[in-house]
Amino acid sequence: MGHKSVAIDGPSGAGKSTLARKAAEVLGFLYVDTGAIYRTLGLLALERKVDLSDTAAVKALLPQAEIRLAHDSGDGLQHMYLCGRDVTGDIRRPEVSRAASAVSAIQAVRDFLMETQRSLAREHDVVMDGRDIGTVVLPEADVKIFLTASPEARARRRCDELLQRGTPQDYETVLAEIVERDRRDISRTAAPLRQAEDAVLVDTTELDLEESLQALLDAVRGGLER
Ligand code: C5P
Repeated sequence: MGHKSVAIDGPSGAGKSTLARKAAEVLGFLYVDTGAIYRTLGLLALERKVDLSDTAAVKALLPQAEIRLAHDSGDGLQHMYLCGRDVTGDIRRPEVSRAASAVSAIQAVRDFLMETQRSLAREHDVVMDGRDIGTVVLPEADVKIFLTASPEARARRRCDELLQRGTPQDYETVLAEIVERDRRDISRTAAPLRQAEDAVLVDTTELDLEESLQALLDAVRGGLER
């Protein structure tokens, strides 16, 4: 029998990675954070000082981009390796978010990273989160979820998270960044963010973390039983 796959797409800051990771844990599936893969390439572009608007220059980086995921580090986290170096922490920096968003808009980048994502789903039961998992990467996924929340709710959560990390930012700045990132993810021509026709919508605007996880698990279990 083939492996089961759960595709979770949605905008940034909807709690996707936290919820997808917890759902994977409950289900006993492997959690795959595809944003981290784009972030790793974004980090490489920054380190090599590549002009992110120069598509040809970003493409020229791909043969040198030795990107690897590992789930066996003992802490249960998905670790990212760039040319053998553990960059799991580095890829969370804000400038890497922007670089990831820029490189992910390039079709050649998406094609290059596609096989990494698909092979994980061939080899494991997965909960995979991203922007185009249900629409492009795993169109045959057993369950597709579109997980979202209002931009304001996402900005509030992000502000709380930044405060906890000791790097507070004001709400208006965070909201403006979220709105801008949504605009880029939705309007790009390469794999724009959109809800797959057969995806179940889970809106967490009015839900806390526990309620969101419950709503997600209900939707996933409902889909797996079909
Ligand atoms: O989800 P996360 O914020 O870590 O993703 C980083 C960037 O990678 C996003 O801005 C998004 O544009 C891009 N991305 C993508 N396709 C995916 C996952 C992430 O284009 N499947």
